[in-house]
Amino acid sequence: MRVLLLGGTAEARELARLLVDAGVEVTSSLAGRVARPRLPVGPVRIGGFGGVAGLRAALAAYDVVVDATHPFARGISANAVAACAAEAVLLLRLERPGWEPDPSWHRVATHGEAAARAATLGTRPFLTVGRQELARFVPDLGGVAVLARVVDPPEIDLPRTWRLLSSRGPYTVEGELAVLREHGADVLVTKDSGGSHTWPKLQAAATLDVPVVVVARPARDPGTPVVDAPGPALDWVLRQARTVVSSGCRGAREAGVRPARPSPL
Ligand code: NAP
Repeated sequence: MRVLLLGGTAEARELARLLVDAGVEVTSSLAGRVARPRLPVGPVRIGGFGGVAGLRAALAAYDVVVDATHPFARGISANAVAACAAEAVLLLRLERPGWEPDPSWHRVATHGEAAARAATLGTRPFLTVGRQELARFVPDLGGVAVLARVVDPPEIDLPRTWRLLSSRGPYTVEGELAVLREHGADVLVTKDSGGSHTWPKLQAAATLDVPVVVVARPARDPGTPVVDAPGPALDWVLRQARTVVSSGCRGAREAGVRPARPSPL
């Protein structure tokens, strides 16, 4: 059983560790976006595949794919769905649950909407949406005192009124209170990343009565089985391994025959 694990998240690193410990052959794949990525155990490949066509070609070396990329990494997830369908390779989505919504949050569907909403709520926003999304905030917030937190510097020139804060989680409530107070933040913008690493800013904002704008997650492929934690993902892989062994699935795929349907979760 050879697993391609699309990663870039803490859950993917945890799953890589579980698979290695279970003796499963796993290759983790990272996009290569950050300068100093946290590396999982086991073999790692870094860089894009070259769209669906490149991913399809790469799938020749794997039996199953686990897409454990970030909930907002829409492009690679869509590519995985298309490539796995085309190559008849089994695909599992590992996605951490979103945060339990707080009724006081301003939930919006896109980063563009988040920018417009934040502009109505304050003049000293704290943006924690990732560097790739910052450009979408410039039209609405270009003239105000933004504090933008990023892991690596963005590729765009930022407005003169903006300040960058380079750091990487996990964060603490005390630390987040200090950041919000130091900037005098009057609105926090985040996306619904879920998990505990970046949750403390929401607790800090609640403590300081700072309004919060949350970008909702993009829709995911309804046809792909999904688990919300590394443990169940390991179980799924081990179940598929048994299916592959008992049905000779690899040989069938090489002969151009669709494999058995994935085992139920
Ligand atoms: P994206 O928009 O979905 O992907 C854009 C392109 O980057 C993909 O088409 C693919 O290039 C390449 N790519 C993305 N993830 C890859 C992976 N794991 N392995 C190989 N190639 C990958 O992705 P993104 O939002 O830029 O995120 C990039 C990576 O950062 C992901 O692995 C994700 O898990 C991680 N991350 C993202 C966020 C976020 O907020 N978006 C937050 C934390 C971590 P090709 O088409 O050339 O294959």
